[in-house]
Amino acid sequence: MSSRRATQDPRHRPPVVPLEAGAGPENPPCPACGEPLFGWIDSRPGLAGPVSRCESCGLGVVGDAGSAGEALAALDRPGEANGVRIANRASFSAWIGGAGWAGLEPRSRYLFTVESVRRLVANRDQVVAGTRWSPGAGIATMWQTVLNGFTFGRNTALGTLGRAAAVPAERPWQRRLDTLISVIVAIPALIAAVPLELTAAATKRGSTISLRFELL
Ligand SMILES: [Zn+2]
Repeated sequence: MSSRRATQDPRHRPPVVPLEAGAGPENPPCPACGEPLFGWIDSRPGLAGPVSRCESCGLGVVGDAGSAGEALAALDRPGEANGVRIANRASFSAWIGGAGWAGLEPRSRYLFTVESVRRLVANRDQVVAGTRWSPGAGIATMWQTVLNGFTFGRNTALGTLGRAAAVPAERPWQRRLDTLISVIVAIPALIAAVPLELTAAATKRGSTISLRFELL
């Protein structure tokens, strides 16, 4: 009798902390892995809301968490069923840039990582068969992240070059100054960005990653 009680009485079971213990209205579940999301960046001009992040798979979410289906829809690019290129939220540039990270574009809703993509595509029986750092786009993202540290707006240079969506500064004089600063700081920022991004890529924390999918 006593041994039966020991195995079935809840009071005798070892304590179990559910993984969702941190979940609640303030911390909705991550659309990729279900773990709670935590605040990362406050809402600011150009963003649809505050940015939260998952500390398990690394996914970043702007505004409402949404569902796995919404995150998959945001991941997919027309005509690219077998792979995708992401600005990597688990990158070194995202870490040093924070709110000034160039990957945080105004139209972004989800900020992906390799692990979050792995979790999401598993929902449709796909696996990530390979990942590859994209040197050009990676260095450009790191370069713009460094430049964002000097300007009022964000992504001024890549926006001018048509490579990213910019968030212009509020006042005209700030926008004029941003253009001037971007020109003056462009070369020094590039000299800083190249070794930073090369180091990041060597430690698997590159800014831009191409992923290749295969069906299970
Ligand atoms: Zn997650």
